[in-house]
Amino acid sequence: MPGAVKVLIDGPSELIFDYALPEGVSARPGCRVKVPLRNTSATGTILDIGSTQSSAFKLKPVTSLIDPEPVVTEKLIQLARWMAGYYGTPLEQIMRSMLPGAVRQETHSAKTHLVATLVEMPDPEALDKLSRRAPRQHTILSLLEKSGPISLNDLGGASVRGSVKSLEDAGYLSVQPHEIRRDPDAGDVFLQSTPHKLNPGQRYAYEEICASVDSFLDPDLDPEATSNFPKPILLHGVTGSGKTEVYLQAAQHCLDRGKSVLVLVPEIALTPQTVQHFKSRFSALHDQVAVLHSNLSQGERFDEWHRIRKGEAMVVVGARSAVFAPLPSPGLIIVDEEHENTYKQENPPKYQGRDLAVVRGNLERCQVVLGSATPSLESFQNAQSGKYNLVRLTERADGQSLPLIRVVDMRNETRKQKGGPAILSERLRTDMEKKLEAGQQVILFLNRRGFARSLQCPSCGHVCECQHCAVPLTYHRTEERLICHLCGYQSIVPRACPKCHDRSILLQGYGTQKVEEVLKKVFPSARLARLDADTARKKNALRNTLRDFRARKIDILLGTQMIAKGLDFPNVTLAGILNADLSLHAPDFRAGERTFQLLTQVAGRSGRGEMEGEVIIQTFTPHSPSVQFARHHDYEGFADQEYDFRQQFNFPPFTHAALLTSKCSHERLAEFTLQNLHQRLSTNLPGGIELGAPNPAPTPRSHGLFRFQLLIRSDNPRVLSRHVQQVLSATTLPEEVSLVFDMDAYDFG
Ligand code: ADP
Ligand code: ZN
Repeated sequence: MPGAVKVLIDGPSELIFDYALPEGVSARPGCRVKVPLRNTSATGTILDIGSTQSSAFKLKPVTSLIDPEPVVTEKLIQLARWMAGYYGTPLEQIMRSMLPGAVRQETHSAKTHLVATLVEMPDPEALDKLSRRAPRQHTILSLLEKSGPISLNDLGGASVRGSVKSLEDAGYLSVQPHEIRRDPDAGDVFLQSTPHKLNPGQRYAYEEICASVDSFLDPDLDPEATSNFPKPILLHGVTGSGKTEVYLQAAQHCLDRGKSVLVLVPEIALTPQTVQHFKSRFSALHDQVAVLHSNLSQGERFDEWHRIRKGEAMVVVGARSAVFAPLPSPGLIIVDEEHENTYKQENPPKYQGRDLAVVRGNLERCQVVLGSATPSLESFQNAQSGKYNLVRLTERADGQSLPLIRVVDMRNETRKQKGGPAILSERLRTDMEKKLEAGQQVILFLNRRGFARSLQCPSCGHVCECQHCAVPLTYHRTEERLICHLCGYQSIVPRACPKCHDRSILLQGYGTQKVEEVLKKVFPSARLARLDADTARKKNALRNTLRDFRARKIDILLGTQMIAKGLDFPNVTLAGILNADLSLHAPDFRAGERTFQLLTQVAGRSGRGEMEGEVIIQTFTPHSPSVQFARHHDYEGFADQEYDFRQQFNFPPFTHAALLTSKCSHERLAEFTLQNLHQRLSTNLPGGIELGAPNPAPTPRSHGLFRFQLLIRSDNPRVLSRHVQQVLSATTLPEEVSLVFDMDAYDFG
């Protein structure tokens, strides 16, 4: 019925109520409103208008409209509803993560200042009089005449108030509030970059993307016939193949047609160069780029959000949550480094930003491009099954060859060096010496994931694995047991290696600090910097270190996965991976894929300039497929064998895997709750759902809470999600226990 609106009330419990829209008030879905609720008032967001069954006179009226303009678009409301169903998360929680706090809270608003504008100059006679009797007023008028509108502050603030008032009263000038933009990059100068001439591979990719963008704009496209829509494009381009240039030119194509562009990057701080490229191309003359990231002040966030909503910023670059940027009608959504796990949100709602980009593209009817040198197996599978359109860039844009990768077998090094597992192999040490002598730079990479939780023999490289799941078993200190957290299989901790009977089988791992100590001893005169989660916590540390490295004030950069991403340093000729096994033997079925990606990405940091690059991988498991295929730059070979393993053990992308986790300070209660839920989930279990057993999590206790988890798999994620939600809402949980449902889980730790 017209005049009625459905409002989602802000707050933890999901309340959706109908209200009447007072006469004369026009609102749209996505508008923020104040409404009466019980005996008090509340704020909320209009979900839709006119769809309610109730008759208007029974409804309480909306108290007021907080903003006449919607803060989210209708498409975003549709996306939120989709997410609620898929991720089994309340709509309110989703809206909360869609809308930045700065935009939701009424306390923030546009910042304004008063500006004086010339209305008309006095006639010469009056002007002459002014210059004699009121020289200050005269000066103000001539300034305004010469330079256009000026803010009162710039005119002199309080000291000119009287003069301005007199001039205003006389009708010579007017004073009006103006919005000032809080620009996060104010003060930065962006030099206009000119497009590169595309090489044939890039040109083909560019043309494919443009053709799809144009098809969506075709007035004859039947909006209902979704099967006729162009498919998302998976741009699989080796490191350094010039994907960014393709994105930039495709974005230009879109802008030329009046459509906006959304670019998602894994993390703004780690991909400063991508942001820089977009700013230089599109912001040098007229600032068309909005950047959304977690370091914005509330005011900046508010302004960027509204600039996007109003269509003033036609290009948006941002991390995961920018997938909710309120672009009125995007023509192109790009997800760079689409395989990166940072696209998965760690806190509820645990959405996958890349997947949402595809869903949003479908809702918005616009083209989506997923780009990577090492596509996720999920996306590659979609390309192979024909759901996505695969476009390849097989060569580096500058014509250089991909770097030479050497694998060093650390089992031999351990034997040679004695006294615990070796950190630096002879090969890596001598190559580093050569590069440093030649004035070139070195990146050393240490991945700490899965640190010290799986057992590996340093003599033969054997890793203790689950017989059912083929993932490494996790060492649990309290029980003195090895446990498979996917299926619950347990075994005793061997005293010696089951394969070679060496007694030195041990927990893998050392941290960046340990490596730093060793490096300082071996290369006392080299300038060394460490970048990991600890050092990056300091404000601007990351930015400054990367800047110094670029300026060649640092010789060796040592870091965790954070330095594996799209950095482009032409003077780096050696990249070393210190211990590939740390990520390889993480207790996770994606460990092999992650390792392959990491090795390839780290390798991609080397030899990006004129000089040839070299890569050294140190590992105790040199024959592992992740290492061997990365070494030969063979993505497809890797994907093929990895698919065999995933299919055999029914892991994604052949199924959707969800994790249900219980957390509680009482161990038994956490365990019991999950067992109880397991029992309830197994009654009336819909077909096609595979329910695992409740198990202690690989990190059984964290932040004082015991954690148990349950793996649930199904081909049909919606059926799975619905079943879990039904059981959860029909179960009264002990208050002390918190439950987390994670659809398409990435973190099994
Ligand atoms: P990717 O993102 O695929 O790893 P980049 O976009 O970083 O690759 O490009 C690698 C380098 O090649 C960059 O320095 C870029 O400026 C350069 N480049 C890109 N396209 C071209 C081109 N058509 N001609 C010459 N150089 C190019
Ligand atoms: Zn198992």
